[in-house]
Amino acid sequence: MATTDAFVGLGSNLADPTAQLARAISALAALPATSLVAQSAFYTSRPVGPQDQPDFVNGAAWLRTGLTALELLDQLQAIEQQHGRVRKQHWGPRTLDLDLLLFGSETIRNDRLTVPHCELPNRDFVLQPLLDLNADLALPDGRSVADLRQRCPDNRLKKLPPFSRELQPPC
Ligand code: AMP
Repeated sequence: MATTDAFVGLGSNLADPTAQLARAISALAALPATSLVAQSAFYTSRPVGPQDQPDFVNGAAWLRTGLTALELLDQLQAIEQQHGRVRKQHWGPRTLDLDLLLFGSETIRNDRLTVPHCELPNRDFVLQPLLDLNADLALPDGRSVADLRQRCPDNRLKKLPPFSRELQPPC
């Protein structure tokens, strides 16, 4: 089966964001025709847009998939819905946001999908997790993720300690 390396950005700032991201990574690892190559550390960042909302927790996952980009987007949106995604406001708080950041070296522009994700070059909370996964990553136009990371605005990123389910209080 032909596979593509895809990078997915994860973000949450509601309902125990770190656990939201950890559950979403497990769901990504269980997608059909897909394996999880690696996951990044998680980071907290100040919200973009309205400031009267909690900080975000962000991370990224490296997948190897036999799905097409649109099939993968469908799966990401299904995971968002399964995780009770709530979002009332553009750039407002949300339980889970999954973005397809990179899909191989493809550039995709249609009514459902823009890849590379349009905000990728401007957001340290997207670029830093990508660098964790692969320090040599580049966009299809050749720009290196490391270079973009150095130039992008500072969003007061803080690396979180590794997530451990054992640290969670029992339900
Ligand atoms: P948001 O919830 O703000 O991430 O936006 C979701 C919408 O963005 C959906 O309608 C998607 O079809 C669209 N979209 C366009 N490009 C992407 C991408 N690379 N990853 C995820 N959603 C995307």
